[in-house]
Order: sequence, then C-alpha cells, then structure tokens
Amino acid sequence: MIISFDLDDTLIPGIRQFETVERTFLQKLWRVEKLRVGTIELMKACQARGHKVYVYTTSNRPPRRIWWMFYLYGIKLDKVINQQVHNQVVRIPAKPSKYPPAFKIDLHIDDSKGVEMEGETYNFRTVIVREDNPDWAVDILAALG
Ligand SMILES: [Mg+2]
Repeated sequence: MIISFDLDDTLIPGIRQFETVERTFLQKLWRVEKLRVGTIELMKACQARGHKVYVYTTSNRPPRRIWWMFYLYGIKLDKVINQQVHNQVVRIPAKPSKYPPAFKIDLHIDDSKGVEMEGETYNFRTVIVREDNPDWAVDILAALG
C-alpha cells in the first residue's frame, strides 16, 4: 500500500499542539521542524511492512527540504507531494485541496475534517487523527489491517 501523511497539525504542531520528539543538536542546527511523538516509529513500521510512505502537504515547503528533514529523523520518504506538485498533477475542476488517487495513494492521514469530506466525495480513504489522541499511531496501524 501507499500511505500519505499530511504535515501541518498532523505531524508538525501549528494550530493543533501535541508532544514532539526531542531534537538533536544537528537537527536544531539544520532548523529541522518539530515532529510529533510516534511519527518515526509509525513510518518505520509502515515501511517494514512493505508499504510506501509519502508526505502530502498543501504547504509550499520544497519537497527536498521535507525529504531532508525526515532523513535527519531517520526516515527515507518514498515521495513528497507539496502544493506545487499537487497543482501540476490534480486537474479536477472543483479543485479539492487533496486528491490522493492522483498519486496512487491508498490511504491518506490528515487532521482536517475537510479532507475527510473530500474523501467521501471523491472516494478516497482517509484516517483523521486528533491532536488529543495518544494512540493515533496505533489507530493508523490498525487501519492498515
Ligand atoms: Mg493539516
């Protein structure tokens, strides 16, 4: 399977706040963003099961920077989709904020109710994680079956 993760308010705190991983000196030096506790283990578990792990964000962070950030956390992302890549590939007139099927993504993880609704409209699978759910990673693994 191909699993994609939203960044803002799902894995990186913003409006929503949650516990983050302690950053190393090197990570601080490179101004690596804070990452939600459980992310590294979850992504590694997904890849160990043979799944591909993508980041799918509507931000304009350069894909290389995102890839490098996760690399410094010990994760080799299989693909990064940012807003620009999304705009280039997704040509649906109604302009959904995200459309995972365009990238052959089987399951998308997000914090947004809007994305969940788009999933119902456009028939793609989502798991919506809450900031106050300490078992969020376990729930995602369960959704993988
Ligand atoms: Mg988000």
